[in-house]
Amino acid sequence: MCFYSCFWGFSLLYVWIMETKLIVPIAAKDLDQAKGQVKAALGTGAEMLELRTDYLENLSVDLVKNLIAFVKSDSDKRMPIIVTCRDKRQGGVIDYPQKLRVDVLTSSLKAGAEFIDFEYDNYLSIEIQEKIRLALSQSSKGRLILSAHNFETRFANIGKLYRDILAVCPEAIPKLVYAANHINDCFEAFDLLHQTSGERIVFCMGQAGLVSRILAKKLGGFVTFASIDDQSATAPGQSTIEQFKKLYRYDDIKSDTELFGVIADPVGHSLSPAIHNACFTEKRLNNIYLPLLVEGGQQEFDSFLHNALFRKWLNFGGFSVTIPHKQNALNFARANLGFVEPLAEKIGAVNTLIISRGGKLSAYNTDYSAALDAITSTLGISRADLNGLPVAVIGAGGVARAIVAGLSDAGAKIRIYNRTVTRGEKLAGEFNCDFAPLDDLPNIDAKLLINCTSIGMHPNVDATPIPQEYLKKGMAVFDTVYNPAKTLLLKEAKKKRAKTIDGISMFVNQGLAQFKLFTNTDANPDLMRKTVLGCLSH
Ligand code: NAP
Repeated sequence: MCFYSCFWGFSLLYVWIMETKLIVPIAAKDLDQAKGQVKAALGTGAEMLELRTDYLENLSVDLVKNLIAFVKSDSDKRMPIIVTCRDKRQGGVIDYPQKLRVDVLTSSLKAGAEFIDFEYDNYLSIEIQEKIRLALSQSSKGRLILSAHNFETRFANIGKLYRDILAVCPEAIPKLVYAANHINDCFEAFDLLHQTSGERIVFCMGQAGLVSRILAKKLGGFVTFASIDDQSATAPGQSTIEQFKKLYRYDDIKSDTELFGVIADPVGHSLSPAIHNACFTEKRLNNIYLPLLVEGGQQEFDSFLHNALFRKWLNFGGFSVTIPHKQNALNFARANLGFVEPLAEKIGAVNTLIISRGGKLSAYNTDYSAALDAITSTLGISRADLNGLPVAVIGAGGVARAIVAGLSDAGAKIRIYNRTVTRGEKLAGEFNCDFAPLDDLPNIDAKLLINCTSIGMHPNVDATPIPQEYLKKGMAVFDTVYNPAKTLLLKEAKKKRAKTIDGISMFVNQGLAQFKLFTNTDANPDLMRKTVLGCLSH
């Protein structure tokens, strides 16, 4: 009995210690502002606070003691605190003398802080080491974080730096944080977390490093940092606690969580993390979906996928792929002997990559079937009814290409209109369609009109690819633009009593198809659509 209760007590303590904490920095210029931030952080679900005392004007030992007392009185007593007084060379804001910074940290331990964070470089001074060691020995629970930052690039040798820190102070929690100039720079942070155990903090700064902040939990990092809001971030690439919890399913991440994500550049505007994570949550799947900013061309794309797939322990199950990497994804699948869906091969673009449990790669294009399904379901017809249907497609870019391929496969009679004649003629030639320049639109004669240009997209919502007077009676109109949901083209088509199909239907359909490929289960279409509309209304 006693054994089991002791065992459980130990296990719970162990879980409490080992679970990655979501930490919010308090970065205020005075005590009142700091108190406001503490309340806001506690309200958003912070699991630990970092008091960045180098942000405080008129810093003094008493000021920091007051702040610690406030946190401990205002919050659940178990809310742990890290006190940091960063050196300006390592990202500090106000350049306080070293003696004051050390005094702030050592007295913070006496005032009840659980952790103090000090720069490894400065800790190499024997005099400082002695002061900090003495303060730690007099504290019943205080721990030391020894940190190293590189705001420019990767460390020369991160593994050696990690070992050097532990050699100087084996009880310390090493913190190694560096700027990722490309998402591929994150992999050595992942490797270090994977190859080591115990308490350590390792992640990357910058937009390209966001994924390392999220995956710190999967890989057992001691903490990861989130800000209260966009304004209060203390390092480049820090997301808000709300984004972590609501958008990236932070609370559900476990060591065996399967990873998915959208590969794009830019990626910040993508709605895919919101729709897939909402559906993973609804279905209680042990998956998360990440924004994967892959800058560069084929070479960088290939290295990213090699990096991700080589590390099987990361557990990537699939990717959405969008601008500018759809052709790169096709080339990658071909070069790596993956299965490529025949129509994706013909379109020359892939928007979905699936990795089987055995590591086999397959590549699909869900855009064309998403568009065909949006058309057939709204018009109440079958795919067979598309055979011989006269369709006008405006545009000859990536989306036009997928839709033209799908419609031509279904036997539709297509005429392409495009601003750049050579591009339009080339697409028409490849799929055996007609071509006409944009000034031929007044003579349009089709049962279905599809806008595949970006005309009418936010913020240019007063633009339309075709004046209202040229929309014919009985013509159905499909606008692939999904932001806004109701484009001027669709509003004008409605006035002419035309059946309309919006871009969100296509977007949701391609998301549903990807979800099925990712999970072998069906996502909730209403939830996906509601999530898209919710994102667009912000
Ligand atoms: P893209 O490859 O860059 O092609 C853009 C097309 O729009 C080209 O044909 C271009 O003509 C034409 N165009 C752009 N601005 C124009 C203007 N001012 N006047 C006349 N033509 C113009 O882009 P894409 O990937 O095909 O995407 C096109 C649109 O599709 C996006 O803006 C987005 O709104 C929508 N989309 C929807 C979904 C969905 O699921 N619903 C998914 C992806 C994209 P030129 O050849 O002359 O340059």
